[in-house]
Amino acid sequence: MSNLTKKVALVTGGSRGIGAAIAKRLASDGASVAITYAKDATSASAVVKAIEAEGGKALAIQADAADPQAVKAAVEKTVATFGGLDILVNNAGTAIPKPFEETPLDEIDQVININIRGVLAATQAALKHLKTGGRIIMIGSCVGERVVAPGLVAYSATKGAVKMFTQGLAREIGGRGITVNNVQPGPIDTDLNPASGDWAVPQKAATSLGRYGTVDEVAALVSFVASPEASYITGTNLTVDGGTNA
Ligand code: NDP
Repeated sequence: MSNLTKKVALVTGGSRGIGAAIAKRLASDGASVAITYAKDATSASAVVKAIEAEGGKALAIQADAADPQAVKAAVEKTVATFGGLDILVNNAGTAIPKPFEETPLDEIDQVININIRGVLAATQAALKHLKTGGRIIMIGSCVGERVVAPGLVAYSATKGAVKMFTQGLAREIGGRGITVNNVQPGPIDTDLNPASGDWAVPQKAATSLGRYGTVDEVAALVSFVASPEASYITGTNLTVDGGTNA
């Protein structure tokens, strides 16, 4: 079990899906947790209430990951509320699955702005506050390393960029005692990628375990990477993909 007592975490896109599970897990590990969301205030509030019901501290902040000023303000509000920042989880992300040649550039811009630009902006803002022992954790994707099906060209390009951002930044800030890692989920049952339906069939078939993963299986890995025990792990891309990339 990790011990995050007295630590402060910010999870972007923490109101639903993988981000909500990460927020709840880090809170149960003892951290005070801020989450951001774009649109769904009701779901964000439910995550805060669930954490508080377990005796934890939580805060929801509306901040579109594609808006660098909003992202910066969310970091500052987290620090002002909880007295610092120890863990940044760059989880907010989106996908618009369709053939590349049929994808309008404005849709590609949206994916790039949330999945890459938002990650860079949040990380820059967080680095002002992170100290020795700090953790930066990206939620990339197994398709950032290998692509097993068509329809995810721009998305996988952004997740490949997240992978190299992780490795480059780990080199640049390792001297400050801050680790930077990339957790790469495979198919996980969420609103973004439901385990039922046509789209799920080839993804499930591509796993070694023959099933979708759960949000808690991703949160468990993030919990470990965030923990003090993971102090010598940095610059890595850790897949939690049921063997999709095996
Ligand atoms: P969901 O769509 O289920 O949840 C997305 C969360 O992010 C919601 O809380 C949503 O809040 C928030 N969000 C969406 N857009 C923005 C934005 N512009 N700014 C701030 N918050 C935003 O997604 P998942 O949980 O499935 O995915 C989370 C991460 O995991 C993403 O980075 C995704 O690429 C990655 N991933 C997911 C996989 C999967 O199979 N599910 C596989 C591999 C990687 P709101 O409702 O308010 O918009």
